[in-house]
Amino acid sequence: MKGSREFYHDLFKAETANSKKNVSFTLNKPEIVEIEHSHYFHTHDSKSRPQKTTSTIAGHWHEVTWKEDANGNLVAECGPPIKFNYRQTPSGTKKVKGPIKFTKINDMGEKVIIEDTHTHKMTYMHSELLTQGSAKDKAMSLANEVMSAAAGGVDGFNEAEANKKLSDEGITMR
Ligand SMILES: [Zn+2]
Repeated sequence: MKGSREFYHDLFKAETANSKKNVSFTLNKPEIVEIEHSHYFHTHDSKSRPQKTTSTIAGHWHEVTWKEDANGNLVAECGPPIKFNYRQTPSGTKKVKGPIKFTKINDMGEKVIIEDTHTHKMTYMHSELLTQGSAKDKAMSLANEVMSAAAGGVDGFNEAEANKKLSDEGITMR
């Protein structure tokens, strides 16, 4: 294709781990539950732009660094969870990135911070040589949807139907 460019796309799975979620409605009295989840990480998006973070699942995402090791294998490392926090300022509500933290007032009246610092083991899945702007873009975004749905991220998404569409496009999901 004229003007198109080939690039490698690598896929990693951030294996299942637990994150903390506050299910309490009462201020300073958090009730923390563990949410089992996984993420996916693409080294590049379908337009060949390098990516630095996993998909958002269970309200957070992770920064990922990756490289080729001495044996030529792709390895990735997962950082702590990041989420958006909403802060009230004189000029309105501000959305800021930050860690997952909960404030608790204990029986002694002391302030205790509970922090969620979970990370994930990163497993390499596959690499693909893609052409920028190719018809595969559509299939790729569909593949992302299937993976999010499999990780419990998309409501009302029909995984079986999407998998059929993918196999029609010649892509097999592991
Ligand atoms: Zn996570």
